[in-house]
Amino acid sequence: MKKLPVILGFAMLAHCFTAQSQSDFPLVDYHVHLKGDFTYEKAVEHSKQSGIRYGVALNCGMGFPTQTDSAALAWLKTMKESPFMLAMQAEGREWVKMFSPDVIARFDYVFTDAMTYTDGAGKRVRLWIKEEVSVPDKQLFMDDLVSRIETIMSTEPINIYVNPTFLPDCIAADYNQLWTRTRMLKVINAAVKNHIAIEINNRFRLPSEEFIKLAKKNGVKFAFGTNNSDSNMGDLDYCLLMKKQCNLTTADMFQLKTKKR
Ligand SMILES: [Zn+2]
Repeated sequence: MKKLPVILGFAMLAHCFTAQSQSDFPLVDYHVHLKGDFTYEKAVEHSKQSGIRYGVALNCGMGFPTQTDSAALAWLKTMKESPFMLAMQAEGREWVKMFSPDVIARFDYVFTDAMTYTDGAGKRVRLWIKEEVSVPDKQLFMDDLVSRIETIMSTEPINIYVNPTFLPDCIAADYNQLWTRTRMLKVINAAVKNHIAIEINNRFRLPSEEFIKLAKKNGVKFAFGTNNSDSNMGDLDYCLLMKKQCNLTTADMFQLKTKKR
């Protein structure tokens, strides 16, 4: 038997001891924020310790911390030497016009969710804020939400749809009834048609196992993401559970085409 070159041998040994290494399956968290007590230094350390590669995202959009091309470019500059992939989290629906295509393209990838929008009456809605959400009719609300997700996927230049299938608190308990097969398929078909991956979100434990199985069957690609608000990362426990339950393989996962920096 041939001896392994020493350097390769060390590299393999290091790989074996990485806490969460899973053979050839890419352990990536595409939705990490440097927020709360989760500083840059902590993120570097935690990524190293856990063996999970991080994509760190900047919140960009109307009413969010970053609102201009120059602010987005300044952040990219400060992160240039970081070991992370750098993502734009596009917020609200106005972002497409707020940032130039050239600046958007400098991020390694772009993602958005359907949690921020202006409703039919002109009211700004953020689905995670109770006071901004009213659901007089659950079915109409769902039809409207699904249609918004389809529009986002067909009109916004994104790579990943995140916080997928999130429902506001007042109807979250009805998730399984409200996310009917027909509604799931509308979202799934829009993702496939527009080549958009769907996040498996660790913090909200979304989407459901049923959704993921149906999406996999229809050829959707998935990206693991946490969307942390502090250093409580969870180390992708829900994502890894879904990987197991839904038999996800490397071929089912989102891949970055090129590294831009
Ligand atoms: Zn986020």
